[in-house]
Amino acid sequence: MTAAAETRRFEAEVDQVLHLVTHSLYSHKEIFLRELVSNASDACDKLRFESIANPDLLAGDPELRIELSWDKDARTITVRDTGIGMDRDEVVANIGSIASSGTRRFLEALGQDRKADARLIGQFGVGFYSAFVVADRVTVLTRRAGAPAEAGVRWESDGRGEYTLGPATLESRGTIVVLHLKEGEDEFLDGWKLRSLVRKYSDHVAFPIRMPKEAPAAGDDKDKDKDKDKQEPGTQWETANDASALWTRPKPEITDEEYRNFYKSLGHDFNDPVAWSHNRVEGSQSFTTLLYIPSQPPFDLMMGGRDERKGLKLYIKRVFIMDAAEELLPHYLRFVRGVVDADDLPLNVSREILQQNRQLEKIRGACVKRVLDLIEKLSRDEPEKFAAFIKAFGNTLKEGIVEDPGNRERIAKLLRFASTKSEGEERTVSLDDYIARMAEGQDAIWYITADGHRAAAGSPQLERFRAKGIEVLLMSDRIDEWMLGHLREYAGKPLRHVAKGELPLDEAEKTRQEEAAQAAAPLLERIRSLLGEAVGEVRVSARLTDSPSCLALSEWEMAPHLAHLLREAGQDVPQGKPTLEVNPRHALLQRLLGEHDDARAADLAHLLLEQAQLAAGAPLADPAAFVQRVNRLLG
Ligand code: ADP
Ligand code: MG
Repeated sequence: MTAAAETRRFEAEVDQVLHLVTHSLYSHKEIFLRELVSNASDACDKLRFESIANPDLLAGDPELRIELSWDKDARTITVRDTGIGMDRDEVVANIGSIASSGTRRFLEALGQDRKADARLIGQFGVGFYSAFVVADRVTVLTRRAGAPAEAGVRWESDGRGEYTLGPATLESRGTIVVLHLKEGEDEFLDGWKLRSLVRKYSDHVAFPIRMPKEAPAAGDDKDKDKDKDKQEPGTQWETANDASALWTRPKPEITDEEYRNFYKSLGHDFNDPVAWSHNRVEGSQSFTTLLYIPSQPPFDLMMGGRDERKGLKLYIKRVFIMDAAEELLPHYLRFVRGVVDADDLPLNVSREILQQNRQLEKIRGACVKRVLDLIEKLSRDEPEKFAAFIKAFGNTLKEGIVEDPGNRERIAKLLRFASTKSEGEERTVSLDDYIARMAEGQDAIWYITADGHRAAAGSPQLERFRAKGIEVLLMSDRIDEWMLGHLREYAGKPLRHVAKGELPLDEAEKTRQEEAAQAAAPLLERIRSLLGEAVGEVRVSARLTDSPSCLALSEWEMAPHLAHLLREAGQDVPQGKPTLEVNPRHALLQRLLGEHDDARAADLAHLLLEQAQLAAGAPLADPAAFVQRVNRLLG
């Protein structure tokens, strides 16, 4: 059978993954077992699904199961499943030649973030390679369900650059993975150890995981058959896991521990989930949802990965249909993990059908509601967990303001922001908190956007608000500007940018402002003529108390830091002329007014504009000229 075997090289990226796996993963080596069992379970799921349309695929052995055995003498561990199996092309595509989309992301995550834990390997779709953490040779024997015995495939590799591929004659369908353990990994050649790992990591795999029945330890094993650990044809098997679909069991019977473990095997995570919600809906349409909020963003989310179909599994009457996160939840809730099991969908649904299925729309609505309920409950009852949630997913949730107008108010209620009345950078202030302590006569929710917390908190545009005791929300996340374009009001109160439009002034303030503007008319005129084309408008500011100048924006104008960002990203953002606001009481303006040297006056005027631009995060048109100006004035 090896006669026709050929040797092939791993694709470069797969090779890198293997290198990382064999050289950097020292802790939690046992994760390989969870990953191989998870693949075996996926293979059983796939066959169960395909066999609905084609029952013959189960011919010969109707039972879908996983078998885990070991051989002390040969120093091997074998994971076998009676699932779908692979044909030759599939073997090549799935293990070895062709890097999956997750391969690169796994490399990036482990490359740039040392904290990226190896236990997350399954989240990247490269879990199979974790076999090489404990094995220096891995043999895969596989035969696709429905194919004849001679159509088997044998794959083998030592994980170093190459693998061999050849034909095999296999009596039964499915896949056998044999790990030839490395020196020093003998702890895994132990029934008790393997059993406890199955319970720890794979208890809730919905197929039975069978292990050879071991005779109870005898007092004296001198006379014992040396081969007792070998897998004999007559081996008796016993089931080592719970093997039930957890979500189908009644809630009161499920312990928190079981819920947590189920999450961990589902999400290939080792952290506990922050919260979960398990519900059964009965009625014209019946379905069960079990939804989890992770405690840490999955790597996909952080790295902007696009492979987010995984995470939420769709079952129909307990049959796994597909990973359907996109169909079951909107994008802004993509961090949710879990299971949806519907009773009334046709088993032969395709992704295309799903996307326009009315029943599914209902389920989707229910999922969104459950998740928002869950987050709301967290915000009410568990402030610490909620704070951690906001830290991890607050910005993702903000996307919902744009994506899900129907729930806009509910989502907005859950968001938290930094503010001029909270400590430091932490996002802790809700819009409700803000409204509850609004100043008398205040009728808007004020915010500022900037390219970082310090730029926001230190902006001259906040001076008047501070002086009047008006709270301002400090928005410094990239997504904020986009979100605020859609969140124009909350609880009947408009949201307004401090740099935009008119400030709310009382009658006395208005009068003072007009007087100041009149008195400053010659000063404004001088600045205008000195700056010429560089500015659109120059006016007396009502926003400033301490600083000499700031930029103001019109109602629909984009904040300068954002315009800059978009231009850098190659977008075509119209470049309007800035509106400069000045504070005539400031010494710099007094000096400008009294300056007889025109060149020095021009320097001063440009400096007013440039410092306002800098504070707003806008780039300077001519930084070198700015530096020279500063030096001239200091000199
Ligand atoms: P993932 O399971 O996330 O896709 P893995 O690296 O664990 O990533 O597995 C890669 C692919 O190899 C799987 O998607 C599957 O197509 C194939 N595969 C692995 N193990 C088996 C198996 N026991 N039976 C059938 N196919 C398998
Ligand atoms: Mg896998």
